[in-house]
Amino acid sequence: MSSFLFDPTPHPLSRVDWTGTRAAGLARLEAFLPAAGTAYTRTRNSDLGPDDRSNVSALSPWLARRLITEEEVVSRVMASHGFVKAEKFIQEVYWRSYWKGWLEMRPQVLTRFNLDRLALNQLATEDHELAQKLSRAKAGETGIACFDAWVRELTTLGWLHNHARMWFASIWIFTLELPWQLGADFFFKHLLDADVASNTLSWRWVAGLHTKGKHYLARASNIETHTKGRFNPAGQLAENALPLSDPGLETFPSALPADEILFEDRVGLLLHGDDLHPESLPLTAKVVGAGLLLVPEIGRTDGAKNKFQRRAEQNACTRLEQAFGMEAPRMASLEDALDWALGLDVREIATPYAPVGPIAWHLADLKQALASHGVRLVRLRRPWDSRTWPLATGGFFKLKERLPYLVRDLGHL
Ligand SMILES: Cc1cc2nc3c(=O)[nH]c(=O)nc-3n(C[C@H](O)[C@H](O)[C@H](O)COP(=O)(O)OP(=O)(O)OC[C@H]3O[C@@H](n4cnc5c(N)ncnc54)[C@H](O)[C@@H]3O)c2cc1C
Repeated sequence: MSSFLFDPTPHPLSRVDWTGTRAAGLARLEAFLPAAGTAYTRTRNSDLGPDDRSNVSALSPWLARRLITEEEVVSRVMASHGFVKAEKFIQEVYWRSYWKGWLEMRPQVLTRFNLDRLALNQLATEDHELAQKLSRAKAGETGIACFDAWVRELTTLGWLHNHARMWFASIWIFTLELPWQLGADFFFKHLLDADVASNTLSWRWVAGLHTKGKHYLARASNIETHTKGRFNPAGQLAENALPLSDPGLETFPSALPADEILFEDRVGLLLHGDDLHPESLPLTAKVVGAGLLLVPEIGRTDGAKNKFQRRAEQNACTRLEQAFGMEAPRMASLEDALDWALGLDVREIATPYAPVGPIAWHLADLKQALASHGVRLVRLRRPWDSRTWPLATGGFFKLKERLPYLVRDLGHL
């Protein structure tokens, strides 16, 4: 008798190979392609658990570092399904760009978050009650089974489904009444796809700070439905809490910096962890030296995130060497990067544009140091970013409305 109804063979898409190489990202993209159309629209909201990721792409760790690019992903999905069938998936990819553009025009929101985060971390060393609540939450010992399971998933695997991230953040803020900034900090330390804009702004969105007065409340019934009955925290959640407010923080958008261009015909190329795809950079000059600026380690070095990050850096160096036929050093400090750049005897160093965040701040220091030696650091912004970021002046709707034109300009409509 056929046993197909009880076939124990897992769906090939269920398990994700979380290896920090471009090849692993491309393999996941190819495997996911058939599911990126109407199946994604229908099923994407369900968190089927860590052993079944067949209904979402799980491409975020590769996209966050541009081991694979947004343009590649959208182009492949368009070629497989066309815009109408894949619109939902394409919208999600553009959410990533929306958050980036939104923050790029409001860097003060990140500055405020960082100041608050540092102050709250300090407070947690002095306030015994806060310290205890925080340590129970981070250890997954709250007694709310779904939350505790997501903590384990986050701290071991480094990845959570989007809906689980929303429920998690909501429970952290409204049920456990912990500061959202410390939740965002906890996510950032562990997520393989940790992204300054998507993470900080999504936490603000859940709290009700992005769209003033509109917060996201996790409901037990919704969790039960979308975890297929694995969890039901009935009676355990604050389902009527009020949104947070953030008085005095100006979120009016400022202008984006203009695109920068190379003038010289011989340049050095400095890669960094925000963009590890040198092969598709808009380079207009001969690269006479190439290297990688390392991201400082975050948290325990043996964690899943650091493992992915180190592998990604190694992979980027190998590909730099293949693309430009030269040894590509890894540089752990600005001093090393400065010495390397000056040793190339060039007047310009090209680098992918780093969106606001730790790498951009490092590069600003390097730019200044190089300038004092008469060398320009030229930040090359990809056309994808230059087209999408200016559309993040208000809500996502403005960008969403432009999607058919944005994807047509990729040459696929
Ligand atoms: C509190 C919270 C924190 C988050 N932190 C991060 C983060 O640090 N890094 C990160 O990349 N995403 C973050 N997200 C967004 C989203 O949860 C993940 O991008 C998504 O779950 C990744 O899974 P996937 O690759 O299967 O996405 P899919 O559903 O397959 O979507 C494809 C791609 O689109 C992008 N995307 C999808 N949904 C979103 C979204 N809501 N916002 C931004 N981009 C999106 C991702 O790059 C994703 O890989 C956060 C969301 C919340 C609610």
